Amino acid sequence: MNNSAHNHKFSLTTPLYYVNGVPHVGSAYTTITADAVARFQRLQGKSVLFITGTDEHGQKIQRTAAEQNLDPQVHCDRIVDSFQLLWNKLNIKYDRFSRTTAPMHEAVVNEFFDRGWQQGDIYLDRQQGWYCVSCEEFKEERELLENHHCPIHTNKPAEWRDEENYFFRLSKYQQLLEELYSAS
Ligand SMILES: [Zn+2]
Repeated sequence: MNNSAHNHKFSLTTPLYYVNGVPHVGSAYTTITADAVARFQRLQGKSVLFITGTDEHGQKIQRTAAEQNLDPQVHCDRIVDSFQLLWNKLNIKYDRFSRTTAPMHEAVVNEFFDRGWQQGDIYLDRQQGWYCVSCEEFKEERELLENHHCPIHTNKPAEWRDEENYFFRLSKYQQLLEELYSAS
């Protein structure tokens, strides 16, 4: 959340929700909270930009679509409908619904990637480890249960991955970020 009181603008976003399934109480929780904050800021006379949306990229989504014999985009469109229907029912007043498959979003990501690439912020490296597809994240060996099962997703083991990946050189910005946070 970024509050720039001096120009009376306030912007905030919910997470962009994964569309491997229909929304659940966790998605509603963060969205209702963000909606309450947005309403409060509007009452304070601020110009509010409230964003929510969906992240439509991920292996979990690809697999869910394949299980149902659906084209991934068709699957995403159906799930997105269920999110928008629920937000309407809950009277969520968002200003923008961002989808990561939207051409506008892809253009912004390309621009971001290009600029990062030019500045040496992105680099190719190798990543090895145990990956839980349900979490969509790598796990430390010590976090896992016996037989490399994820403690949250105990029904199936994490998968061993050995792959080349692109990484963001966050360490380059450590000092700048520390200065930013200590100033605010
Ligand atoms: Zn997991």
